[in-house]
Amino acid sequence: MPEGDTVHNAARRVGAALVGKEILALETPQPRHALDRWPQRLAGRRVRSVEARGKHMLVRFDCGLTLHSHLRMGGSWRVFRLGERWRRSPRRAWLVIRTPEHEVVQFDGPVLELLTDARARSDPRIASLGPDIVAAGEFDEVAFLGRLREDDQTRPFGDALLDQRNVAGIGNIWKSEACFMAGVDPSRALGDVRDEEALAAVRAARPLMRLSAERGRIATWRPERPSAAAAGRDWVYDRAGRPCRRCGAPIAARRQGEAGRTTFWCPRCQS
Ligand SMILES: [Zn+2]
Repeated sequence: MPEGDTVHNAARRVGAALVGKEILALETPQPRHALDRWPQRLAGRRVRSVEARGKHMLVRFDCGLTLHSHLRMGGSWRVFRLGERWRRSPRRAWLVIRTPEHEVVQFDGPVLELLTDARARSDPRIASLGPDIVAAGEFDEVAFLGRLREDDQTRPFGDALLDQRNVAGIGNIWKSEACFMAGVDPSRALGDVRDEEALAAVRAARPLMRLSAERGRIATWRPERPSAAAAGRDWVYDRAGRPCRRCGAPIAARRQGEAGRTTFWCPRCQS
């Protein structure tokens, strides 16, 4: 599932292909967009900017219209050089934007809508987002702590980290990794987690997520003697029952929160 780092990475690639470029064609292959007339409404327009906000992407055109996308569990953005093979079914494409050099394709939706700039600014899904953990500049730690403390203090810390109103951009992988790196058990109630512990989780994840946004997904675990087999691995995510890379205790897993997303943690390293 794409998390904030992946969406910021996509925004960089899509922005490099589209901003200021001539758009030769724009297609919306899905039947549900057949009546929206996007190709006509966006004909001859240029892309002003491509921006990630948490897990949302905003493609702003110079006519006061913004394409809003959210990838949820399985969507993706891809940038192809003109003529390059997509290597996936064209039926999965929701949006194709063609420039003289590139094809930018959004696959598998599931949220893709054209909004006025004003509507995009006031849309509650975007306006309610907490500070973005991947965004450039300074992370607003005061705002983050304020939102955590306004939240239900009986809520498990790991679940609260997934709530985009508290901090935008963290998904299931980074939630587990951030809690491990901070040494905090993700099932602890918010009220029992000190400010410094909450900040430690965000401060541990943020530089890695920013690096990931720049280069593509990186692993959190850096073995002392890297081997091919160890590449692309994390500390705890998806490692239920396997030995902790730090202490050797078996990694635990449990479903957490309303959405029932699985959380992974080391019962010995995290308390
Ligand atoms: Zn451990």
